[in-house]
Amino acid sequence: MTVPFNALDLPPLTAQDFARIEDKAAAVMGTRADVVVMQGEALLPLEAALRSAAHPGSTALNIVTGPYGETFGGWLRSCGAHVVTVSAPFTAAATAGQVREALRENPAIDLVSLVHAEAATGNTNPVPEIAAVTREHGALLMLDAVASVGAEPLLTDEWGVDLCVIGGQKALAGPAGVSAVSVSDRAWARIAANKQAPRRSYLSLLDWKERWTDAGRTALPHAPAQLEMLALEQALDRVGADGLDATVDRHRAASAALRAGARELAPLTPYVTRDEDAAPAATTLRAPEGLDAREVVAAALAADAGVPVQAAAGALAEDMIRVNHYGRAADREVVLASLAALAAGLRALGHAPGAEAVRDAATSAWEKTLAG
Ligand SMILES: *Cc1c(COP(=O)(O)O)cnc(C)c1O
Repeated sequence: MTVPFNALDLPPLTAQDFARIEDKAAAVMGTRADVVVMQGEALLPLEAALRSAAHPGSTALNIVTGPYGETFGGWLRSCGAHVVTVSAPFTAAATAGQVREALRENPAIDLVSLVHAEAATGNTNPVPEIAAVTREHGALLMLDAVASVGAEPLLTDEWGVDLCVIGGQKALAGPAGVSAVSVSDRAWARIAANKQAPRRSYLSLLDWKERWTDAGRTALPHAPAQLEMLALEQALDRVGADGLDATVDRHRAASAALRAGARELAPLTPYVTRDEDAAPAATTLRAPEGLDAREVVAAALAADAGVPVQAAAGALAEDMIRVNHYGRAADREVVLASLAALAAGLRALGHAPGAEAVRDAATSAWEKTLAG
């Protein structure tokens, strides 16, 4: 048997290729700062960024709006930082007012950690306002934009984000195995002055700066994750061809349609109360007391196994349903099929949502969003 094409026989990915892909990642992040593509899932640059900026004796503000924020608090504490926590309920977003208050009460805060959108809890935070307050205070801002890049506006430089982390696996419909972080000049200066910042480590941003960025990006420090890099480039090129704004609009329309349909899906309701706090990448729905979200999900998947509907993880599993309408799933037919499956699941459990009303509400919200 002959193998007509073997991906492992591709010519090696060059330093030039790697640099070009970094530049394409920078474009979707809205930054002219250094962007380092790191060869791991997004948790790698997230941990690298926080460990580079935090140190014993420093004070960090950790804004928790879902499970990722909780993980980041653990990393910051393990760096020896004193961690101040601001939390928002999973039904809403954190506010700039909460952040301003925390900064006023804790003047020593020199790092703020924020998740832009939480795919796990379906909320999104007002980054421009929080960034402005953080900047005024003089702290660095680390933003987890993994679930927002491509799904909603992300203006890293304009907003003044110092460390912005993205991954390819959500709205960009790309691979999960490589990710990127942008580093502002201010952040590089703080990281270089931090004796605890990882050095000679896979978590080291400084190693990449020294061996790659400052060396003119001419020789790769490690073998590139070739297949993942090629997949990331294809994902970025596809977004480029469709247009970043059009990609964002498609996610906004999916969110609006899902939320409008969900309002007709009694007894389910949107988990996030206000539309402006809802993440365009994923919508969460609340199952009322007495109805287990996991049973609704199982019944919906029994009706249509192909829809991106799942029960939330951990403590939220009983009352939160998640619809992941990102990437390829930010599509009118996928949204309508997800709502139809949920309606069929509810009917199987003895409820009676009007399938037609759900479909009409979702369709008209989709069209209204795209009409501007
Ligand atoms: C998806 C996501 C990540 C990436 O982590 P995984 O758990 O591997 O999917 C990081 N941060 C946020 C906010 C995400 O939504």
